[in-house]
Amino acid sequence: PILKVALLGLGGYANIVAKAMQNCKRAKITALISGTPSKLDQWGEKYSVPKSHRFSYEELEKIKNNPDIDAVYIMTPNLRHPEFAIKVANLGKHVISEKPMATNVKDAQRMIDACKKAGVKLLVGYRMHFEPNTLEIIKKREAGEFGKILFFQGLSGFIIGDPKQWRLNKQLAGGGSMMDIGIYSINGARYMLGEEPIWVTAQETKTDPEKFKEGVDETILFQMGFPSGAVASCLSTYALNNLDKFYLNGTKGFAEMMPSTGYGPIKAKTNKGELSYPHVTHQTIQMDEFAAILHDGKTPKIPVDGEEGLKDMKIIEAIFEAVKSGKKVALK
Ligand code: NAD
Repeated sequence: PILKVALLGLGGYANIVAKAMQNCKRAKITALISGTPSKLDQWGEKYSVPKSHRFSYEELEKIKNNPDIDAVYIMTPNLRHPEFAIKVANLGKHVISEKPMATNVKDAQRMIDACKKAGVKLLVGYRMHFEPNTLEIIKKREAGEFGKILFFQGLSGFIIGDPKQWRLNKQLAGGGSMMDIGIYSINGARYMLGEEPIWVTAQETKTDPEKFKEGVDETILFQMGFPSGAVASCLSTYALNNLDKFYLNGTKGFAEMMPSTGYGPIKAKTNKGELSYPHVTHQTIQMDEFAAILHDGKTPKIPVDGEEGLKDMKIIEAIFEAVKSGKKVALK
């Protein structure tokens, strides 16, 4: 069956997802939820969503028992993901939340608990988990092609514009670059290495305290240690462009991905040469795979559930703690 999706929060990323969903085989936009009436009209016309299936945030309850909605995809500023997720779960619909799933560990856990209690599934928009070049590198690592892996490098950053946007608002974003883009290096380290970190260390630098206020990180350099002995060295920043690179190094070989998480073609190579998987629109396969997970109970190769999102949130909190204390922080 087709996954019937309501989009909630019609901003920049929702626009990308909505376009990508036009090429989905198994997922379709069936409802729209927004705080802006004019957007509901425009998007409704554009994506053929009838007036009866356009809702304001206050009208959210109307989705209950609506057979045309299986899941609600939340794409608001980070702060509001938990609140909407819990409401949606209580209305009996599956929840898809954008990353980061919340602005702190406590809220992330509340989302997981609410979905469990309501008997609905919770998925996080980790689009890279379905990208073919990424999955092929992981397959090669698992087959031992790179030998014993000892090092991962993740570079994630871009120069952020408008100082007034929600991404630079501590309350709405939960932080700065780390919540938004650094999370790709954290998540990437975990799926590229195939293990969970046991400690973090981190250092912060700030060149523009006016733009990046207290609690909004501009640049954080961080390190993670893993049970196998592998270490990761990563950079998260809002102060530099062209930072989108993963590098995995083992005793027998290496893999390099640059770009590694951008929307465009992922360029991957190993010590044996370039990978040649054709570009796929990440959001298109993500939504088709989400349909398979929600409708067929398919288990994805790399998890995209609430527990997966929670792991990143715990690491982010540990990184913030390490920045503050200057000490190594152990992860349970
Ligand atoms: P955006 O600012 O372009 O859009 C946010 C939307 O939420 C807008 O429609 C805005 O009107 C609405 N909004 C603003 N403040 C609100 C509030 N207080 N309550 C409810 N709605 C509000 O932002 P975006 O780039 O679309 O990001 C949205 C989410 O998607 C974020 O969580 C972000 O991290 C995530 N995102 C993910 C990816 C990805 O590749 N997976 C890419 C971009 C953004």
